[in-house]
Amino acid sequence: MVSEREQVLSTLARKIHGEIAGRIIDRLIKVGEATDEQLSQALGIEIGVIRRTLNALYESRLVKYRRVRDVDQGWYLYYWRLTDDFPTRVLEERRRKALEILRRRLEYEEGNSFFYCPSCRFKYSFDEVVDYMFRCPNCGSDLEALDNGVAVEKLKRAIRILEELKFEQ
Ligand SMILES: [Zn+2]
Repeated sequence: MVSEREQVLSTLARKIHGEIAGRIIDRLIKVGEATDEQLSQALGIEIGVIRRTLNALYESRLVKYRRVRDVDQGWYLYYWRLTDDFPTRVLEERRRKALEILRRRLEYEEGNSFFYCPSCRFKYSFDEVVDYMFRCPNCGSDLEALDNGVAVEKLKRAIRILEELKFEQ
């Protein structure tokens, strides 16, 4: 039975680091703990790719490791497992990044007037429109001014929601 926390970790891993990361997390959920070599064998994925992905997952605090000295060989083995924490740090980072993108987009929308082509629906900035002499470069139709008030409102709402979300105390 996969817990809710495990499911969140698996989804996050896939969304942020891709399909291989998701498969690694699913495998760790199943077996509890594994070395990079065990993961490589079980999933049929090259060890270099496994190591890179594990490092990325570690950076995001989605996995942890336990280091054990191999007495015969004299080197360390790393046993990887899921983090015990709820992935607040990674969610907080995503929240900040999303906010940054939305704020930049809002600044752009508010600072520019836009035009569109009534036939092909392409959108152009004011600077572009001046270059094209107010004609669509694609079909030659006259361009019309676009009201981006709806887009601006949507952006503002999304920003407010994200600002109120808090993952870390
Ligand atoms: Zn056009």
